[in-house]
Amino acid sequence: MATPTLANHIAGAWSVPPPDADFLPVTDPATLNVLARVPLSPAHEVARAIEAAAAAFPAWRELPAGDRIQCLFRLKSALEAGLEELAATIVSECGKTLDEARAEIRRGIENVETACGIPLMLQGHHSENVAPGIDETMIRQPLGVVAIVTPFNFPAMIPLWFLPYAIACGNTVVFKPSEKTPLSAERLQRLMIASGVPPGVVNLLHGERSTVEALLDHPAVRAVSFVGSSAVARQVYARAAAAGKRAQCQGGAKNAVVVLADADQSGTTQVLTDSAYGCNGQRCLAASIAIAVGDARAWLTKDLATAARQRPVGAVITSQSKQRIESLIAQGITEGARPVVDGRGHPGQQFGATLLDEVRTDGTLAQTEIFGPVLSLIHAATLEEAIAFVNQQSYGNMACLFTRSGAAARQFKHEAQAGNIGINLGVAAPMAQFPFTGWKGSFFGDLHAQGRDAIEFYTDKKVVIERWPQTLSRKF
Ligand code: NAD
Repeated sequence: MATPTLANHIAGAWSVPPPDADFLPVTDPATLNVLARVPLSPAHEVARAIEAAAAAFPAWRELPAGDRIQCLFRLKSALEAGLEELAATIVSECGKTLDEARAEIRRGIENVETACGIPLMLQGHHSENVAPGIDETMIRQPLGVVAIVTPFNFPAMIPLWFLPYAIACGNTVVFKPSEKTPLSAERLQRLMIASGVPPGVVNLLHGERSTVEALLDHPAVRAVSFVGSSAVARQVYARAAAAGKRAQCQGGAKNAVVVLADADQSGTTQVLTDSAYGCNGQRCLAASIAIAVGDARAWLTKDLATAARQRPVGAVITSQSKQRIESLIAQGITEGARPVVDGRGHPGQQFGATLLDEVRTDGTLAQTEIFGPVLSLIHAATLEEAIAFVNQQSYGNMACLFTRSGAAARQFKHEAQAGNIGINLGVAAPMAQFPFTGWKGSFFGDLHAQGRDAIEFYTDKKVVIERWPQTLSRKF
């Protein structure tokens, strides 16, 4: 069978890629089969998508919020009905397991449900008689055209961190998914069309760096929601800000999990290995460093090794990714780390769970985002020492503590410099009604994804101060 070529979806129509577009293959990381060809949209195609979104904006913003969310109710049902097909697509192009794919869709659906509460969340506030005969009101209005740029590792959930809120607030969207996982985005787009999202309200545009840059440079784009690696997040934030756009850019991570000696031994090991090796470590909330405090060292090293050996081997997204992970491990070993379980040496893009002990706290393995199934183990004498390690890191996406002590948990919550904190949890992913609060090098911007932050991000505030003629002449 011929390899299908993917199309953009602009102004309600699927459009064949323009003749001057380049293409990339979309590959199944587990089998290395080529699934499709994805176009890299040139600047004039980007402009066409933005113009379609701009043309759809006036009618969409006029629709009352209660009417706008009707397509989100249908989208929730469509996602439930289409869950298995979408999950199978995620498995084929992203390489995660079927259960992991199903779980990410569930987390995405939560955001659709939360955005259905927009009529309430969009409310402003009002003060009567702020001065004699004068009333003051704050209202929220949509921005206009919003760009949404997403990474490969959660091809359904991450677009749904943004899309439902952006359109429920009355904006129109150009959605640029990862070029590595465009098939899931196409399926999402079809579900949105089937749910009655009107033509031009969400436009699907394929591409990579140059496509994103054309989006950032176009004057009609008012705001950018981005998720990806920190280097790119920083660049996107700087370029958007220089053009006067609002931006929320989520970056990479290096998540530390601190284990105290009083922690539940088997539960901690299970949760920690699921966090480190689930989704093959390609998760921005994956545990990447385990810090054994004091006597936890004796059991944690042994138990983690046993659990790591039992993990099934999975695939990482590209062969370049595999080479990068292998070279980071080699570098760490040169710096003195001891490989306890070594996941290198599998065929194709397969990579097994890897555990390294005696990792240098200032070395490559402790400081670099690896984004593969690799857990580094370090040791600390006290909780204070462990927190000091967490706080010197350049990233701040997540930090977790395993303990039975309420006092230790309180100290950790209070002092750890990361935006998402887990207590006896390995993946501290906020529910849709809470913001996803990366800190430091894991986030560039101020308003986060999800929940109330999303409403603040996707709307402009307007304050109306009013006085009426009858009151002008009245004496108060
Ligand atoms: P990536 O940075 O390579 O790509 C992300 C998006 O940016 C893609 O759509 C890509 O086409 C585009 N892009 C790539 N280079 C660009 C450039 N120079 N200029 C403009 N756009 C560019 O990320 P990835 O490999 O797809 O995803 C993995 C990364 O994403 C990891 O670092 C991971 O930690 C991070 N991530 C973070 C979160 C979070 O919530 N903080 C969530 C998921 C993934």
